Amino acid sequence: MQQELIDRDRKVNWHPYTQMKTASHIPIVRGEGSYIYDADGKRYIDAVSSWWVTLHGHAHPYIAAKVSEQLQTLEQVIFAGFTHPNAIELSERLLTLLPDNQEKVFYTDNGSTAIEVALKMCLQFHYNRGEKKNKILAFRNGYHGDTFGAMSVSGRGLWTNPFGEQLFEVLFIDVPTKENLKEIKSYIDLHAREAACFVYEPLVQGAGGMLMHEAEALSELMQFCKSKEILLIQDEIFVGFGRTGKLFAVDHLSEIPDIMCFSKGLTGGTLPLGITTCTEEIYNAFYSDDKTKALFHGHSFTASPLACAAALASLDLLLLKDTQRNIERIVKQHKEFGEVLKKHPKVKEVRQAGTIFAMEWRINEETSYFSDMHEILYPYFLQRGILMRPLGNIIYLVPPYCTTKEDLEEIYHVILEALDIL
Ligand SMILES: *Cc1c(COP(=O)(O)O)cnc(C)c1O
Repeated sequence: MQQELIDRDRKVNWHPYTQMKTASHIPIVRGEGSYIYDADGKRYIDAVSSWWVTLHGHAHPYIAAKVSEQLQTLEQVIFAGFTHPNAIELSERLLTLLPDNQEKVFYTDNGSTAIEVALKMCLQFHYNRGEKKNKILAFRNGYHGDTFGAMSVSGRGLWTNPFGEQLFEVLFIDVPTKENLKEIKSYIDLHAREAACFVYEPLVQGAGGMLMHEAEALSELMQFCKSKEILLIQDEIFVGFGRTGKLFAVDHLSEIPDIMCFSKGLTGGTLPLGITTCTEEIYNAFYSDDKTKALFHGHSFTASPLACAAALASLDLLLLKDTQRNIERIVKQHKEFGEVLKKHPKVKEVRQAGTIFAMEWRINEETSYFSDMHEILYPYFLQRGILMRPLGNIIYLVPPYCTTKEDLEEIYHVILEALDIL
């Protein structure tokens, strides 16, 4: 059955971020907790939460029951001219967990579109007020999605080259450190008059290679942008919902953003959903008797009642004492493992932000997403029954919170073994 599915898949499917000529795809037929099972019954520990989305484990019975109930009550309704209880309750509950200045919720259906909406909010905010501020600031090496706007504000590289001419101009800055903050500020100062907003991944640049920066330096940079009337778009699509050890990355910062973006863990990884929240001030720039001042953006599945039901159920689980204790345990286990790894001669660097753990394998060439290490490590871990997707020579762990102490130890063990054998 396994081979049959592989063959049929090959004939018809084109997979994401994949050179189809050299890739193969494992058919997964079932998931439970932190495990996924292939068609032959082989079990894999999902150490990357299936592209960073799964919070509470696969096929969680509580989320499944809530979605199933919703499916039999109201599966979908147009969100223009209509609303539904789930979207109301989810917005109310999410806003109570976010900084006080976040007042309004705009729904989409994935992370990239949550970013598109955030960018449009900022650009149209100034347009509606008759101001000419239309440049966007972003970090080098950032990642905000694959649609054209999101791609434009993401780090440029081999994967954006084919579209280079079509990407709009962005003012790129380095992530802040104590040393370079002054230089970054004077660069921003030069462009402050035309800069509409600054979009950034707080604390962890995920797809860029699990790069991490200090909360203090970021807070200072945010504060400086605010003083220059540059709107802050905080992309919590990856780091939100407990990943950094706190509920949101903003909980580590002493400044608060104007706009926040969420997706990935928002529904516990069950269904696609995107959220962009904003301040009353931004909302008010669109609030008018003039119809042309409205935000002209929407998707067929805006605020899907099913996805909202999953998000509500996921929030219930996330706020449980048990889940919070599991998050604390994972943070502690990672820390201890990091201390062990640091001493290994093949380890160049160890990084951790809460439940997100990364290590750089020492290689001769420069660190790169296209490093051949991926071709060696990825199949090695799979063969050992662990799903990890190294970014080049960077091995990282983003486990679902239900991952047991023992399963984490197994993952660590296999990494150490790989370091010794490969
Ligand atoms: C994954 C990701 C996105 C894009 O989300 P999609 O749902 O994949 O479009 C945006 N920002 C960050 C930080 C991400 O990790």
